[in-house]
Parts: sequence; C-alpha cells; structure tokens
Amino acid sequence: MKAMAVFPDIGALTGRAEKLAARLSECDICPRVCRVNRTTGEVGVCGAGRNAPVSSFGPHFGEEAPLVGVSGSGTVFFSGCNLRCVFCQNYEISHTVEGNGVPAERLAAIFLSIQRMGCHNLNLVTPTHVTPQILEALSLAVSGGLSIPVVYNCGGYESVDTLRELEGVVDIYMPDVKFLGTEPASRYCAAPDYPEVVRAALREMARQVGPLVIDRRGVAQRGLLVRHLVMPGEASTTRSVIDFLADGIGKDTYLNLMNQYRPCGRAPGFPEIGRRITSGEWREALDYARDRGMFRLDGL
Ligand code: SF4
Repeated sequence: MKAMAVFPDIGALTGRAEKLAARLSECDICPRVCRVNRTTGEVGVCGAGRNAPVSSFGPHFGEEAPLVGVSGSGTVFFSGCNLRCVFCQNYEISHTVEGNGVPAERLAAIFLSIQRMGCHNLNLVTPTHVTPQILEALSLAVSGGLSIPVVYNCGGYESVDTLRELEGVVDIYMPDVKFLGTEPASRYCAAPDYPEVVRAALREMARQVGPLVIDRRGVAQRGLLVRHLVMPGEASTTRSVIDFLADGIGKDTYLNLMNQYRPCGRAPGFPEIGRRITSGEWREALDYARDRGMFRLDGL
C-alpha cells in the first residue's frame, strides 16, 4: 500500500500555485532574483520560461536506497537550472533548455503516470526554477488521485519564501550542500551568497519535515536527506559541510557523501577540479563524518 502524502486541500494548493505563478512576471522564485518576465518569453539565469521544461521521466534505480525501494524512484528531470555549476554532473540537461516546456495539464499527467508505474515517490529533479509550475500541476494531479510522497531534489540554492509555499506539499527534501565557502561558490557557480542561502534553506527544510523517516520496508516517507558531493582538493569544504549538519541541523540527518565526482561540463577548464577524487579523500570524508557523530550515512 502506498503512503499518503499530506497535501493541503486543493483550494489551498491552487491558491499557492497562483501566488507563485504571479511572481513569474518579475521572477524572484530563487535567490538569483532575475526580475525577468517569464510569462512573455524572457528568461533569466535558469533559462526556463512560463512552462516547465521536462527532459525525461520514469522509474530510476540509481538514487539512494530509501528512495528506490523495490519499485524505483519516480524521477522527473527538469532542464535548466538556477545554479549552473561549471562541474555539473548533469551538464547537458541543466545548462540547456530545449523547447517551450509542457503545460500544467501535461505535467500533471506525467506525475500521475509515475504513480501508475508503481514508483515509491515522485522525485522532482532540479525543481527550483519551476516551483510555480510544479504546484500548478500538483493541484491537478492531487485532484486526479496523486498520493505518493513528493521528493524535492535540488541544488540547495533556494529562496526561503518559495520554500514556505511548499510546506505540507513536499514530503522529502533532498538538497545538495555543495560549499560553505564564498570562494568556491563564486568560482564554480557564480553564487557568492550560496553558503548563507543554503544554510537558511536547510534550516527551513528541517523545520518543515524533520529527520528522514523510513518505513518497515526500508522506504523513505518523509524528512530531510542531504547530499554532499566530495570534490577533489576540497577536504576543508567537506569538513565545513559536515560541521554545519552536525551542529546546525542534527547528527541524525541522513547524509549521502557522494564519491562519484567526475570532471564534467566546464570542469576541465579548472585544473584543480579536473580529476576524480582519490580513495584517501573519500575515506577522510567518511572518517570525519563518523568522528563528528553523523550516524545516518547512506550505504553504511
Ligand atoms: S527562477 Fe530563473 S528566472 Fe527566476 S530568479 Fe531564479 S534563475 Fe532567475
């Protein structure tokens, strides 16, 4: 039996969708605050217009075990991104937006098809720049019977005002925490405010959903799941991320320390990150997390 997501009532959901959609005409949906009019075809940093650009969707078995379960996580990959890291591991999808996107009715149909496929959750990948469109589609999909948990799988560069509109809608927040230093955030993402933004975003997410709750089948139902991509030569970054989680969010935070960094996208232009991490760098990250008392490390 599928878990029931606790959605706000349809009227409230529609109201929130309208409130967010109104902000598209002078877009401040994310911390870039581009102030472009996305309803008339202008685009900002993320590259998306009025409709949500969907790159692909379907069951995915490469996510964290509590999301995958036995039936897979129902990913919907949106193209475009508000962060646009030079080393993005999905560079082709996030740095280009093709087509005009799909209207809310089509997106709602995609969400419902994910549920029909038997996926454990609806996993919205890179959703930040299309949160209004997601709420519009969810209000239709919930009317149509959508009830699986909603996963917000993001880069962590989020507006707290926008996140507040997702309270009671998103069941599982899965943000990256990439850096907590201004220098790498500026150099690799042109977002010097990323450290303060991601700290505030994580506090808001933790307030809304708390630590990750996993049911008897081993499937996540609600809560916070944090990802951190361990990068070459960035041991101090990894330590600062772990310190922030241990001291500022909670040692019971479910954490995936990811070791799959590859120099994708424009990373070869940055020699210091133009290689994979070493096994020593990976072990050092794990040891530090354990030393700091983080006891819910993915896969361990
Ligand atoms: S969602 Fe896109 S257009 Fe809007 S502020 Fe963010 S990057 Fe700019």
